[in-house]
Amino acid sequence: MARDARYDILFEPVRIGPVTARNRFYQVPHCDGMGHRRPKAEAASRAVKAEGGWAVICTQECEIHPSGEVTPSVEARLWDDKDIPALALMTEAVHRHGALAGIELVHNGPSSANRYSREVPLGPSHQPAGRYDPVQARAMDLTDIRAYRQWHRAAARRAKLAGFDLVYVYAGHDLSLPMHFLQRRRNNRSDEYGGSLENRARLLREVIEDTKEEVGDTCAVAVRIAVDELLGPEGITSEGEGRDVIAMLAELPDLWDVNVSDWDNDSLTSRFGPEGGQEPFTAFVKKVTSKPVVGVGRFTSPDTMVSQIKRGVLDFIGAARPSIADPFLPKKIEEGRLEDIRECIGCNICVTGDRFAAPIRCTQNPTMGEEWRKGWHPEEVPGKSTDESVLIVGAGPAGLECARTLGERGYEVHLAEAGTDLGGRVVLESHLPGLSAWIRVRDYRIQQLTKLTNVQIYRDSRLTPEHVHEFGAAHVVIATGGAWRRDGVGRANWQAVPGLDRAGVFTPGDIMAGAQPEGPIVVYDDDHYYMGGVLAEKLRAEGHDVTLVTPAHSASAWTDYTLELAHIQKRLLEIGVTIVANQRLATMQVDHAELACVYTGTRSLVPCASLVTVTARLPNDDLYRALIANGDALKDAGIGSVTAIGDALAPSTIAAAVYAGHSYARALGTNPDGKVAFKREFPG
Ligand code: ADP
Ligand code: SF4
Repeated sequence: MARDARYDILFEPVRIGPVTARNRFYQVPHCDGMGHRRPKAEAASRAVKAEGGWAVICTQECEIHPSGEVTPSVEARLWDDKDIPALALMTEAVHRHGALAGIELVHNGPSSANRYSREVPLGPSHQPAGRYDPVQARAMDLTDIRAYRQWHRAAARRAKLAGFDLVYVYAGHDLSLPMHFLQRRRNNRSDEYGGSLENRARLLREVIEDTKEEVGDTCAVAVRIAVDELLGPEGITSEGEGRDVIAMLAELPDLWDVNVSDWDNDSLTSRFGPEGGQEPFTAFVKKVTSKPVVGVGRFTSPDTMVSQIKRGVLDFIGAARPSIADPFLPKKIEEGRLEDIRECIGCNICVTGDRFAAPIRCTQNPTMGEEWRKGWHPEEVPGKSTDESVLIVGAGPAGLECARTLGERGYEVHLAEAGTDLGGRVVLESHLPGLSAWIRVRDYRIQQLTKLTNVQIYRDSRLTPEHVHEFGAAHVVIATGGAWRRDGVGRANWQAVPGLDRAGVFTPGDIMAGAQPEGPIVVYDDDHYYMGGVLAEKLRAEGHDVTLVTPAHSASAWTDYTLELAHIQKRLLEIGVTIVANQRLATMQVDHAELACVYTGTRSLVPCASLVTVTARLPNDDLYRALIANGDALKDAGIGSVTAIGDALAPSTIAAAVYAGHSYARALGTNPDGKVAFKREFPG
C-alpha cells in the first residue's frame, strides 16, 4: 500500500551540519541495559531500528572517562581506544541499513558515585555525589576543567574512528558536567565558570566548540539539553535560563535535541501525561535557532507527528519508547500500514532494564533486547515446522500474543476465551485511572489477528477439560491468567491474615468488577507495583477516605524502577490519600485494621469499614492441573502437549505475559523442550 500523501513531510531528508538524515524519524539516545557489556546485542538491537526506517540511531549515554561512570547501569563506554571496536559494531550495523549513527558522550560529574572505578567524583562545586551514596564530588579547578575538555575531545575523536556520524555534547537530565555547571544550585563558583549565565554556560560553549573543531568536518555536533527541569525557580526553566542559554548558543551546534528533566519527567508514563506533552516547554526552541530541532513526546500517531513539523515545533520526530515498542514505526507509516503500528503504552517497563543492568524489555514488543541473543526479529517469524493445530485457552496478553505469533508462523490456531471481550486483565486494568493507553496491548493484537485467516477465535467459551479433549488439537496452551489473593498472603505475611474472610474485604478483581466498598477504606499494598496506588487513587476520586498501608518505605515502591515513584507519591498526597509506610497488616476487625510495624512489631489501629488487599495473585490453573492429571485422556484425544503460560503459570507483569506467549510460539516445533535458548557474550 502506498503511504498517505499527508505523511510525505515526515519522509523529507533533513541536513544536520555535514550529514543528511534520510527522513525525520530520529531515535534519540536511550539506555538499553546492554551497552559495553553486551555490544553484539546492542548493535543488533539498534540495527533493527535502522532497518525499520529510523534515519538516526543513537547510543545511550557513553562514558568518556572513569571519573564519570554510571555503574551499576551498563551503558556505552569510550574511555580509550580499546572501547572503539565494540561501538564500531553498532555503527556498521546501523549504516548497513542506511541510517546515521549518533553517540551521546557523557561525563556524569557529581551524578556519578564512580562505584566501579573508585575515582573521586567531580563537580562544579563541592557537593554530594550519586544518589544516596555516602560520597562527595570535589570542586573542579581550572586544571580539572582543562582535563575534562581533553577527555571529551579524545572521546569525540574515538567516536569518529568508530564510525559515528553525529557526536553529542550532553547537558540533559540533571546529568553531565555542562548541565551541572549551568545549574545555579550546583554551581557556586566565583571564577569565570560561575556566577552569570554566560559564565555558567561557558563550559557548554567550550565543549561544543572543542567537539566541532575535533570532528565537525565530517560529524554533526548535536547538543542534548534539558530546557526545563520542572523545578520552578530552583532550576532551569523554559521561560528563563533554558531559553536564554539556547538563544545564546543558538547557531553553535548542528542540531538541538531538547527535552525536560529529570528523566522521570522526560520519560513520563502515560499515567501522568499525554503524547506530545513536552511541547509547552520545548516549542520556543525553533524560534530562537535556525538549526534543526529534535524533541520527544511518546509520539506514535503520524498525524501528531505531522502537526509537530507543520506547526514548526520540531524538525525531527524524536523517539525512544515508540522506537522500542515498534522499531518499524517509520516503515509502517511509509508503506501506508498504520494499522500495523504497535503503539507504546507508556508503562516504562523498558526503563527497568537500565535500572537492573539487564537487557531491555518492552511490554508491547517482546523481541526488544532479544535480537542478537535469541535471533528474534520484530516483524519476522520462522514458518511453521509441522501442520499441527494449537488450541489456546484464554485471550489475555499471553494468549493473544501466542495466537498472533503462531498465526504468523502459519499454524492452525484456535483461541478460546471465556468472556465476550478479548484482552484479559488489560481490559479491566485499562479502566483504572491513567491506564487507558494499556488497552493498546489488546488492540494491536486483535488488529493483527483479524488478518490471519488461520486463527479462529471463540468468545464466550469457557473451556472445561472435556471441551479440550473433544477439540483434540495437537498442542494445548493454557493462558487462563491469574486472580488476586483474598487472604493477605504476600511478601510481609507468609500466612493468611486473620479476619479477611469477613464482609467488607475486597480484592483488586472485586473493585475492577464494580464492587463498591464503603468508606473509610484501607488499601493494603504488599504488591508494590502500580495496583495498590492506582486503586487508592480511584477510590479517593470516588469520594472515600482512603489510607494506603504498605510494608514498604513508600507507596508503589517498585515503581522507582519505572520512574513513577515520585509522581505516584505526589498524586496520592495531593488528592488526600493518607500513606502509612513500613506497616504490615496483622488482623482485620469489624471496624478497623490492625497493623504491625515491620521493624518493631508495635501494633496500631486504623479505623476502616472496608479493606482492599493488594498482595499477590494465584494462577488460574484448575484447567491445566485437570488436564495434565489425566495423561490417558490426553493421549486418547491426540493431544501431544499441554503448556501453561503467562499468569496461568506464575502471575507477573503484562510484559512477562506477552513475552511468554511470544516465546512459546517461537519455540513450538523448533525446540524440543519448548524453551528458547539464548547466546551469551563473553568478555574479550
Ligand atoms: P495473561 O496475563 O497471562 O494473559 P489474563 O488474566 O490477562 O492472563 O487473561 C486470561 C484470560 O483467560 C482471561 O481473559 C480469562 O477470561 C480467560 N480464561 C480463564 N479461564 C478460561 C477458560 N477455562 N476457558 C477460556 N478462557 C479462560
Ligand atoms: Fe512503551 Fe512500555 Fe514498551 Fe517502554 S516498555 S516502549 S513504555 S510499551
